Amino acid sequence: MSDDGQLQVQMTDEVRQLLQERMILLDDVERVILQAEGTGRKLINQATGRFLASLRPKAVTFWVEYSREGEEYRVHTAYSHRMVMKSSGTTAEWEKTGKAAGDWTCNQCGIPIEEQTVRLQYMQSIFPIKLPACSGCGFILIDEELATGKVAEAEQALEDK
Ligand SMILES: [Zn+2]
Repeated sequence: MSDDGQLQVQMTDEVRQLLQERMILLDDVERVILQAEGTGRKLINQATGRFLASLRPKAVTFWVEYSREGEEYRVHTAYSHRMVMKSSGTTAEWEKTGKAAGDWTCNQCGIPIEEQTVRLQYMQSIFPIKLPACSGCGFILIDEELATGKVAEAEQALEDK
């Protein structure tokens, strides 16, 4: 719970339970929203008006999808991954497909998120992978399906080694 009273976060019992299962604390969620609102670094869904933002305070990246209702923030979902999704080189090296990825727009750049081949750096390797991203600032969107699916599997595989 927030003790500074700055942020009022609401969510349904279903979402609360999902966060519990994923071991995501309310503190983590609040930190993501505070950072996104403070910096403007977030995505906006043009269809739903929801925001998506991420933050990596320590060894885990947290993603929160939320909307603003007056003074309150409603959390629709949250997920996390440990793998660092860091792009290598500049966005100019990315191969664009021109295909829009959902209805997400980068709040800071004001341009749609596009499917493109970004160059991800993981440990000592660089590998190209097709992901939705902002060509302007390089914001890479790891969606819930990817984070809880393939990324979680890859993390597990690395741990089992
Ligand atoms: Zn951007």
